[in-house]
Amino acid sequence: MTGGRVRQRTPGPLRKASPLRVAQRLRRARAEDWDFGGGRIFGSLCTEPHPESRRWLLPFLTANLGNPGLCPGTARLSEELLEEFLRLYHGPPTGAGGWWVSGATEANVTALWVFRNLTGGSEVVLPVSAHFSFAKALDLLGLRPRWVPVDGAGRMETEKARDRVSRRTAALVALAGSTELGAVDPIEDLAAIALRAGVPLHVDAAVGGFLLPFLPARTRDRLPFDFRLPGVRSLAVDPHKLGQAPIPSGVLLFRRLAETASVEVASPYLSDPRARGLLGTRFSATVAATYAAVHALGSEGYRREAQRLRRLAGWLVREGRRLGLEPVTDPVLNVVAFHHENPAGIQAWMLQRGWDVSAIERPPGIRFVLMPHAREGLLPRLRDDLAAGLRRFPPPGAAAGR
Ligand code: PLP
Repeated sequence: MTGGRVRQRTPGPLRKASPLRVAQRLRRARAEDWDFGGGRIFGSLCTEPHPESRRWLLPFLTANLGNPGLCPGTARLSEELLEEFLRLYHGPPTGAGGWWVSGATEANVTALWVFRNLTGGSEVVLPVSAHFSFAKALDLLGLRPRWVPVDGAGRMETEKARDRVSRRTAALVALAGSTELGAVDPIEDLAAIALRAGVPLHVDAAVGGFLLPFLPARTRDRLPFDFRLPGVRSLAVDPHKLGQAPIPSGVLLFRRLAETASVEVASPYLSDPRARGLLGTRFSATVAATYAAVHALGSEGYRREAQRLRRLAGWLVREGRRLGLEPVTDPVLNVVAFHHENPAGIQAWMLQRGWDVSAIERPPGIRFVLMPHAREGLLPRLRDDLAAGLRRFPPPGAAAGR
């Protein structure tokens, strides 16, 4: 982006610079960026990639799944890992499949593209908590939203969803982890509605996909979200979030891969005669890097991390309460949000003290995402700076001496 200032621009060639000058410029640019390793980022759903994943980026630098015939090894690796994901997410024994995408934005756009073509529907039934990638998808695809309200815990209201499903519905969308609250919609009920109405249910599990399968059985069984539910027809998951893979790493899975035929085109000048999905040439080294992260951690590693993040989230909820903040909901995942009428004020206060936290809109509040880069030892400092901020911007009810 070129900023708002109007500058005189004179036409000119591309400058050559010595490697030393280039290195200096690049180092300076990078030094301005936030570093996950510093443990001060609480406003992002991304994180430091697992160390095992980083080292495979360069060796696979030229891999391009847009032309899989030139990288059959990477293509096979990709299929192998997709197969593992299908097993993790209870894909049916035959017919299921999917492909790599750049992240859940592309996954959501593609899923709605597939289901619009498949059903001929013109509307999408989705919760008001849906990620803004759906706004892009609706606009691109010429689909109309039928927004569904959410309850106090940020979960889609099932009855209202049922009312909005009709013959015009191209897809019903549910969230396995909302962006603002980490709320998990009642997907079991929504899947039943979808199945009965003959409407595809797309589950956006960008936030919860690498947490929900690794929660204690009691919680996990209460929150089914994947192909175990027959109404679920597609699933978006993002290894580049809690999967601890480098960006861009997203996966889109379908219960019946054959249903995606309408998003295939002939690609006669490439190694493969058919190309599927949105992207052409694509960065594919992250497939290898994701493979490395997933196998460095395994289910056991993800389980341990899920446990740690939920423990930290619980700590933050308790400390927030002690500071007079009311959690919007008891977090099931790794997202903690507190009601606050001036979230932008708190956010700016925290930023001045070197913390990245988010302001949320629905309801107004401040949000902390506990990600693998969160360092337990730093949390008391986060709490102390928050406490100071709350003296300046008191939480709702504090003035009345609540
Ligand atoms: N869906 C949800 C629920 C998200 O939280 C996000 C991003 O945070 C996305 C989709 C978009 O993911 P990406 O930015 O990786 O494309």
